Amino acid sequence: MKTIFERIIDKELPAEVLFENERIIAIKDKYPIAPVHILIISKKVIKSIQDIKKEDLGLIPEMIEVAQNLADEFHIANGYRLLTNTGPSSGQTIFHLHFHLIGGRELGTMG
Ligand code: AMP
Repeated sequence: MKTIFERIIDKELPAEVLFENERIIAIKDKYPIAPVHILIISKKVIKSIQDIKKEDLGLIPEMIEVAQNLADEFHIANGYRLLTNTGPSSGQTIFHLHFHLIGGRELGTMG
């Protein structure tokens, strides 16, 4: 069964798309936890960072570059969090590789 993100990638579900190329799509998070909350999603179906095969590792620097550009575009380059939940115990709810780009407020320390 397709995940929500696969359905967004396949344009079966709506999303506010901020960036898209052949390998990556970036959308606004539907339930933001900060003024800027963007999801940078791999188009290839990969469950999590723990499941990336060596041949797909090149995706990661590309996703980071998208995050850097969006951080500039949304004026949060002075402080943001870029994270990827990995596995059920981390709080991952959609099992399709994505990074959260979070900023626009004081984020404080982790934990
Ligand atoms: P995670 O819990 O790390 O797997 O992150 C999944 C994220 O997807 C959460 O921050 C949700 O708020 C977000 N989300 C869930 N459904 C949608 C949707 N239809 N469009 C955009 N973001 C969504």
